[in-house]
Amino acid sequence: MSSIFAKFSGTASALGGLIESGGRNPFGVVIEKVVSSTVGVIENRETLLFGTNNYLGLSQSQNAVKAAQDAAAKYGVGTTGSRIANGTQSLHRQLEVQIASHFNRRDAMVFSTGYQANLGIISALAGKEDYLLLDADSHASIYDGSRLSTAQVIRFRHNDPDDLHKRLKRLEGTPGAKLVVVEGIYSMTGNIAPVAEFAAVKRETDSYLLVDEAHSFGVIGENGLGVAEAAGVEKDVDFIAGTFSKSLGTVGGYCVSDHPEMDLIRVNCRPYMFTASLPPEVIAATMTALDEMKAHPELRTQLMDNAKRLHGGLHRIGLNASKQVSPVVAVTLETLGQAITMWNRLLEEGVYVNLSLPPATPDNRPLLRCSVMATHTPAQIDKALEVFASVARECSVLS
Ligand code: PMP
Repeated sequence: MSSIFAKFSGTASALGGLIESGGRNPFGVVIEKVVSSTVGVIENRETLLFGTNNYLGLSQSQNAVKAAQDAAAKYGVGTTGSRIANGTQSLHRQLEVQIASHFNRRDAMVFSTGYQANLGIISALAGKEDYLLLDADSHASIYDGSRLSTAQVIRFRHNDPDDLHKRLKRLEGTPGAKLVVVEGIYSMTGNIAPVAEFAAVKRETDSYLLVDEAHSFGVIGENGLGVAEAAGVEKDVDFIAGTFSKSLGTVGGYCVSDHPEMDLIRVNCRPYMFTASLPPEVIAATMTALDEMKAHPELRTQLMDNAKRLHGGLHRIGLNASKQVSPVVAVTLETLGQAITMWNRLLEEGVYVNLSLPPATPDNRPLLRCSVMATHTPAQIDKALEVFASVARECSVLS
């Protein structure tokens, strides 16, 4: 009998090599205790967290915790059903109304995760006759959504509106609808989409535009609505998708739109129809976190100040860090060995970042993906920079 696991032999040897060279599994890090939004205990050591998506620190909001406790006491801990069957409670509708009004949009659909929001909206919108135009560096949920759709998929060069324009021009005269999908801030590199230019291409070519603001919601824009708001092109964006699992600190996803057909999507969207809805305590915590986000715009200012401090500091050390300033700062390394050794040494010295490896990284180069939070103190950022500098010297990464 042939082994069903034979296909994983490449993964097994790559993972074995990773563990052998560094002494630990980079995909098996356990946060043993949460001390605060910025500090966790890992391997019995208090560790600075510079590898989460908890941009505003709201996963530790005591108001959200209390709201979750109250909701669980009142409604129970789960819905046991999908949104269209038996899993819509008044809380789900309330959250959708709150999200739609926050974005100033006609309608919002709430999904059980951000992954499912992309999977659902992309696969429901893009049918057999249609074309999906995806930025080459798109998140897995966007690629998976395009696979679940029956549309023809065309990739364009990352953050390159001219390349998109060229590809859309070639499709002129074809019958299907064209849906362009970009992200606001890219999760691995911190690159920010030139969304005003993408919006101009969309207008000229009469296509639809979906922006995944997963990493930019709560982070950028006057009201924290993301890159579309920051660029002043919200009206050109047909669909904004996002997640509650980053700046709001809970879990769940959403899609907002002004298109009146959103109710038709609800009954044509498999990742919405065939999975259990969010539990009441998560909805209540999310609504409270959103209220806190709105009440505390200074968190965004703190976040961007911290982003500048980390970004500037990593550049001053001489590391090849992200070009644009955002809360995601990636350090690109030349070799896999350097990345693995540095990541392990940073953790041993009490700084946790994410190790991102090819083929999941742009240009197939290894990255140490760092992220900051509004709740990091300047002293915590300086400490992390000090550790980065000494580990980089030790690993001969600096020229
Ligand atoms: N879109 C992007 C750009 C992401 O980076 C992620 C998660 N990292 C998601 C969607 C999925 O969100 P979630 O983890 O909340 O399912």
